[in-house]
Amino acid sequence: MQEISPASTTLSSAFFNQPIESVAFLGLGAMGELMAAHLPTTFKRVWVWNRTAEKAQQHAKRYGTRAVTLPEAVQADVIFSCLPTSQTVRELILANPPKKGSVWVDCTSGVPDIAQELAQFLQARGSYFLDAPVSGQTVGAQRGTLTVMVGGEAAALAYARPAIEPFAGLIEHVGASGAGFAVKAVNNMLMAVNLWAGAEGLGILKAHGVRLENALTCINASSGQSMSTQSVLPQRVLTRDFPLTFALELLAKDTRIAQALAKSAGLTTPITGLVQQFCAIADQTQPKPADFSTLVQLFEQWNHIELS
Ligand code: NDP
Repeated sequence: MQEISPASTTLSSAFFNQPIESVAFLGLGAMGELMAAHLPTTFKRVWVWNRTAEKAQQHAKRYGTRAVTLPEAVQADVIFSCLPTSQTVRELILANPPKKGSVWVDCTSGVPDIAQELAQFLQARGSYFLDAPVSGQTVGAQRGTLTVMVGGEAAALAYARPAIEPFAGLIEHVGASGAGFAVKAVNNMLMAVNLWAGAEGLGILKAHGVRLENALTCINASSGQSMSTQSVLPQRVLTRDFPLTFALELLAKDTRIAQALAKSAGLTTPITGLVQQFCAIADQTQPKPADFSTLVQLFEQWNHIELS
């Protein structure tokens, strides 16, 4: 990956002198459906597109958006995408470049190199690409409180910001193209590390006959707590629910991106490397579809233990 430079200011904010009149959202999956649902509160023209067209039609009925074709969607002033991978976004953009003067805000958890490539591709055509992945799970998408980590031109973000705000609790410009995707990959690597470490900790306690609910109550009021001990382990694992809201294969992808970033920088990152391998093994072996919390089941299988 090329080095991610500090945010550049090559684009004049005067470029964007018209208010946003239309927004489009591509990809109405677990996250996209809920994120796009907030947009009609701010904009009159909200167009939605989904590969499985029925989902877009249902979205239009339910939330007051309008289902459109892909060529129509890319005529919007601001275009959002929230798809499984950067590769899919790349295919869509190359086949359907957006109109001049527009900003493409990619909320996919993606690959920094591809953000840089797409930013250059669009900039050569007079439009702009922001990598703007999100964190906060489906509940954050529903509440409109997502953390949005943005890489790309500051002026493009200033223009697109009013369209991001309806689903965001925090919008942080973290650097030039690719920086947003890099932050998201590292964030999810940390989440996977905490989840795995939490499973090991609870496994030790279970093996010694300690009640896990009580143990978590203490840990969550102590220095070992994390988002995994606060919500993932008690709500998804101990309950044995493992509800599907964030696919294991997407977490495996995120840790793969983080490890690739470490490798391309020549860093030795044993914990990132191990957790990336655990996510890959779990993704290959768990029956599909699988929630990310089923990563813990790999630990359980290895140790013939159930965290309940
Ligand atoms: P889902 O699997 O629920 O939805 C994926 C969406 O992408 C669907 O709309 C699907 O369309 C569409 N899609 C899949 N493949 C293609 C393709 N080849 N061409 C066009 N459209 C395609 O994913 P999520 O909403 O969970 O995740 C989306 C992104 O957000 C991912 O990058 C993920 O890592 C990230 N993310 C997810 C979070 C979560 O909690 N779920 C939290 C934060 C980030 P169709 O309906 O036709 O299948």
